[in-house]
Amino acid sequence: MAHIRQLTTLLPQPVRFGLRRLAFRGSGVDCPLCGTEVRSLAGHGGGAEVLDRRRVVGGMRRENDRCPVCHGADRTRMMMLYLERHAGVGTRPVRLLHVAPDFGLYLWLKRQNGVDYTATDLDAARYRHIDGIETADLTRLPFADAAFDAIVCSHVLEHVPDDRAAFAELARVLAPGGHALLLTPFALDGKGTDEDPGLDDPAEQDRRFGQWDHVRIYDRDDFLARMSAAGLAATLWDPFEEDADTARALHLNPEERLPIGQLPSA
Ligand SMILES: [Zn+2]
Repeated sequence: MAHIRQLTTLLPQPVRFGLRRLAFRGSGVDCPLCGTEVRSLAGHGGGAEVLDRRRVVGGMRRENDRCPVCHGADRTRMMMLYLERHAGVGTRPVRLLHVAPDFGLYLWLKRQNGVDYTATDLDAARYRHIDGIETADLTRLPFADAAFDAIVCSHVLEHVPDDRAAFAELARVLAPGGHALLLTPFALDGKGTDEDPGLDDPAEQDRRFGQWDHVRIYDRDDFLARMSAAGLAATLWDPFEEDADTARALHLNPEERLPIGQLPSA
């Protein structure tokens, strides 16, 4: 099985997607992201001791979480719901920036009316399946001020050494009235952000931050404070508080909240 998996990683993503669609199609759960009905959702996350010890939501293992076809997770469906209900996606024209685009949300966005879609990553070559993606450094974005009505930047900032510069850029390219969905793994143990932006030791990063290429674990309140320091009005959206039935139907994580950044109204 392992060697089959190795071989399939050599295939282009759309081909792998098609193969997974054949393999996992069944009756059970509808994935709203890729539109496949699958037999069940898969478990996802976990693996590092620090994630459990610090109660890292978005990092701890969750069963019944990830679509086996598009790999969209609970957090991806949470962002989809927010974009649809609060950011106007599907109902009005939205200029949207997708940072380090995950395939499930990309597939969903491509099916929505009125989305003017831009994607970017530090290494766009990793995303050949995403139309029109451009390579860019999140701390120096090649976009005009106020260029986007919505920004999706999920599980990126914990990788970025100079996150303050990244927050500032995200605030700069956000349009007045727009919504920045900024999500990372968050420690809920109240012990603050642990970071070492200069650390370049994958084994130590895995032990301390829960993944070999992370440079910090954010405390959620501290993350909101960093958003505010960049000039964003920061709030936490709780899909269960808004509509628990839908949140449960989408298999969202009851512990997860979505930080939303907006420019303060004048
Ligand atoms: Zn899916």
